[in-house]
Order: sequence, then structure tokens, then C-alpha cells
Amino acid sequence: KTSYKNAITKLKSDSLASLDWEGTSYEWSDDVKSTLENIFKIKSFRPKQLSAINSTLSGEHAIVVMPTGAGKSLCYQLPALLRPGLTVVVSPLISLMEDQIRSLTQKNIPAMLMCSTSSKDENQTALKTLTDDKTDIKLLYVTPERFAKSKRFMSNLQKCHAAGRLQRFAIDEVHCCSQWGHDFRPDYKFLGILSNMFPKVPILGLTGTATSHVLSDVQKILNIPGCLVLKTTFNRPNLFYQILEKPATQEGCLDVLEKLLKYRYKDESGIIYAHSIKDCEDLAQGLRKRGLRVGCYHASLDADTRSKVHQKWHEKIYQAIVATVAFGMGIDKPDVRFVIHHSISKTMENYYQESGRAGRDGLRAECVTLYRMQDLFRVSTMVFSNNGHLEQLYGMIKYCLNVKVCRRQVVAEYFNENWGNTDCNYMCDVCIHPNKIIREIRLEEHIKNLAVVIEKAEKKEIKLTALKLLDAWFLKGPVNIRHDGPDPGLKISRLVGEDVIAYLLIKGYLVEDFHFTAMSTISYIKCGPNMEMIKDENFSLRMLVRKSSAFNLEEPAPCFVPACEEVFEEGRGRSKRNINDVNEQPPEKTS
Ligand code: ADP
Ligand code: MG
Ligand code: ZN
Repeated sequence: KTSYKNAITKLKSDSLASLDWEGTSYEWSDDVKSTLENIFKIKSFRPKQLSAINSTLSGEHAIVVMPTGAGKSLCYQLPALLRPGLTVVVSPLISLMEDQIRSLTQKNIPAMLMCSTSSKDENQTALKTLTDDKTDIKLLYVTPERFAKSKRFMSNLQKCHAAGRLQRFAIDEVHCCSQWGHDFRPDYKFLGILSNMFPKVPILGLTGTATSHVLSDVQKILNIPGCLVLKTTFNRPNLFYQILEKPATQEGCLDVLEKLLKYRYKDESGIIYAHSIKDCEDLAQGLRKRGLRVGCYHASLDADTRSKVHQKWHEKIYQAIVATVAFGMGIDKPDVRFVIHHSISKTMENYYQESGRAGRDGLRAECVTLYRMQDLFRVSTMVFSNNGHLEQLYGMIKYCLNVKVCRRQVVAEYFNENWGNTDCNYMCDVCIHPNKIIREIRLEEHIKNLAVVIEKAEKKEIKLTALKLLDAWFLKGPVNIRHDGPDPGLKISRLVGEDVIAYLLIKGYLVEDFHFTAMSTISYIKCGPNMEMIKDENFSLRMLVRKSSAFNLEEPAPCFVPACEEVFEEGRGRSKRNINDVNEQPPEKTS
């Protein structure tokens, strides 16, 4: 029976998706056009906006999936104005709702919000709008817990429905329903009752999370299986992606950040994401000592301080905010020119969301990640106990270690999209640097020596962290666990050695083994399932690495924005030449 049900669901979603929702000959099409121009002062729709509007006006349930900044709000704000009655908008954050009310008020669109921080009077007025057929309010914003916790609200909602005045539900950030999403909010699960309680009222879900299992989970929770899904591409062509080698010390990191902020991002706004609250504070303090204006933002600051920091950043008093991922949803600054990750994200999804806060105005912006092996273990020891999280972290590491495939391509693969090679337009470090800087190293001998070290350590019951393994492999540290092979340092640098260990981890030749102490979790390294393969006489394993420190900051920034002209004049020349190199030479075949 379930497979029959699934088949029907699939049929339904396929046939809905095959319809052309972009049409302009619906009975409401003229009104849509004039409202767009006269009230929103917008000349034309962005991709899928019109489809979303037509589908919800047709009474279909739909989920709109667009990257942040693409314009999801218009998809429910515009239809709300076309007919009598109310659109109820569910939003997870008060600050998000306030931003929306502000921008609607500027356009003279009557809207109201209802939340825990509004006064009793305000909430009374909002409740009345539901039953008042004379109200001019078109959009009513509420938090999801209203549906569970306020009987008055629910009964008024039913009255509104009975009077035929409940136009639709718009559920913003709809991925919050799903535990698989990056921002699960338990209150969102109450929204599952809407489709049964108000069967003819269309639901329009909106999200910037594109992974397919989150989407089907959302459909399940909202009881709208097989509903129309309108998805635009997640490619952000104006974002430049780059990985930088992360210095081993905090001082070294501060040097890098200082250079970036003082030269490459002079007079521009951005975000620096750090792993922990302590890192945030240390970095912010360090940067201030170096004369930079930065704010600090994390969950242990009180709401008032946080909103002040946010404000100062908006007003450009701060050039950058050094933040944990607590600085996230609700950032509404269009001209964020850089997002620097001082430490890697937990997953590619998180990385996409965090870095995606750059360049919402469509102008060039940069997403730079400082990567070093040690951060892998800082994250893995935090996430390992959750099913699948380690695998997702390794996806992020794969992105960082990659030197060959366009970074956009790696992101696209993650979203099951294909943006094609040509779509990057030299907007990532891989595409901009000529193939010349890539070197292929053979890992057969290295991996054998690593296996010897691990075996010796096991016999002596010594546990190896990655750093200890690296030491012994490079013939440093305790003599009794070193191997008898040649010093790998003759062929590769220690830094490349770190990359090799990370690479062997994500390829399953090594595995992490987690141990607990009273204070922390430690990741030790053991041989993984694929280590068996090295016994095979035909065993071969290669890895592509950077030939030299191609991302040394003393070298020109791969950057074409005018702001760089002065500081990196030589750089512009060089970068241009690189582009020609790439054009003239077909990519080298390396494997
Ligand atoms: P999202 O919710 O997808 O992150 P928003 O709805 O907040 O994005 O819209 C981001 C910005 O894009 C807003 O300033 C909005 O006015 C603008 N915008 C939306 N649609 C269009 C359009 N068709 N043309 C120009 N600007 C648009
Ligand atoms: Mg939005
Ligand atoms: Zn690229």
C-alpha cells in the first residue's frame, strides 16, 4: 500500500512540476504585473518568483527553494495584496519579522506581527484582525508556537477561515521543520496540522536549504507529500571561493586576517567565522590590537549587546564581525564583501549557508576559508557521536583538500546540480590558478610507512593523535615508533604531510578513534578498512597537492575588484596573465 501511495505522490509531483507556472494569462496576471511595478517598484521577476505566485494563487501547496537573497519574500507578499483577506506568515525569528514589517511599511503595505515580545495590546489588535472583516491588514506574521500554545489564536484563525478570509499560509525558513536541516526548531512540527485543519488553504513554504531529503521530510511533516517544488539554481556566480593555508599559530592567523582586512578588504564589510567563543574573543582582541575595527558576536553575549554589535557593523563602524555560527539567520546586509572562515564549517551545507551571506547585492564578494588539518579534529571530536555527521565533515575536508576541480563544481555536486565547468568564470582559486601549480604525489611508500608507525605504536599500546603520527612518520619524536623508511621530508613538506593524513582519513585508509577524558574528547588515528588494499602488489594511490604555497599572501590576491588595484597592482597583471594561460592551455591530464 505504501508503494502505491508513493507512486501516486510521485505522479502528482511530476505532473505538477511539468506544468508551466510562468504563464501570464491567468485571471490575476494583469494585477500581478501592476502590483509588482507600482507597489514593489520592481521591473521584472527573478527566476521562479512568478511560478510561485501563480501556483499559490491557483490554490496549490508549494515549496520554494532559492538561495538566500534570491527574493523569496515577494512570492507571498505580492499575492497577499491581490485578494481580500489575510496571509498568515510563519517566521522563526522576531528580528526577521521586524525587518519584514519595516520594509512592508515603507511600501505602505499594512502588516502586523504577533510574538512573545509584543505588548498585550498589540497582540489583542493582531488577534482582532483575524475576525475583523474591515481590517486593512494583509499580512499577519506569527511565530510557530502560536499554533500550539494559543487557543485564542487558533479559534480566531478558524473564524477567519470560516469567513473565507484566510488566503494562505506562508511558512518562511520551512526547513526548520526537519531535524535534518541545519536549523531545526521543534515548534515548527505543530505546523503539520494546518493542511488538515484548513484543507483548501494553500501552504507556501520557503527555504534556502536545497538538500532533497530535507525537502521530502518537510513535505511529510507538513502533510503535503508530492506538492509542487519550485527550485532555482544554487550557484552564486558573484561569489569567489578560495582556500588559504591556515598558519599553525594564532599569531600567524592574525597576520593573515590583518593583511586581508587592511589591504584586500580595505573599507569593505565582512564576517569572520570562528570555531568557538574563545576563538572569537581572542581573534577580535588580536585584531583590535592591530588597529582594526571589529565586533565580536556569539551566543553567550546578551541580546542587547548582540544587537548593538550588529548595528555597529551595519553602520560600518565595524569593518567585520568575528562570530560563531550563532551569527546567522536574519543577517540582512546586502553588501557583505567577504566571509572568512577562520575554521572550517561542520558540513558543506553549513559552509554554503555561512559563506552565502556574502554578496547578496549581486556584486563580487569573496568566501575565504583558512584550512589546516588540526581543525578537522576540533570539529570531529564535537560531532562524531551523531550519525552521519563525520561523513558530512569529511565532505567539507574534501572541498578543502581539493586542488583540481572547480570549487563551484564541488558545491554543485553537493546540491546534486551540475553548473558546468564554464559557469565559474574564474571565480574560484582552482580555476584562476594555472594547472602548473598542482603537483601529483605518489602515496604508496608514504602509506606503507604510516602503517608501520601505527602497527609499532599499537604493539607498544601507544595511542597516536594525528600530530604524533605525523611526527613519527617524519622521523621525529619517540624513536621506538618510527619507521625504517626514508625521511618523507625529502619529498614533501610537513604541511603536505598533514594534507596526506587528512586525505587518507577521508579515503578510509585511516580512521579516527575517539576517546574521552574528563575534560575533552580526543581523536586517535588507526588503520582504516581500506588499509588492506596496500598489500596488493598493484596497489597505487596518488594525490594532487599544491606545488608551493600558491596562496601565500605575499603573492598577489586573485582578485579583480578595483579596490585591489593599488595594493596588488602587480597582482592584477599576474592574475590576468594566469587567465590567458588557462585559456591557451588545455588542462593537463594528471591521472
Ligand atoms: P530571501 O528571503 O530569498 O533571502 P528576500 O525576499 O529577503 O530574499 O529578498 C532579497 C532582496 O531582493 C530584497 O531586497 C528584495 O526587495 C529584492 N528582490 C526580490 N525580488 C526582486 C526582483 N524581482 N527584482 C529586484 N529585487 C528583488
Ligand atoms: Mg527570507
Ligand atoms: Zn572554479
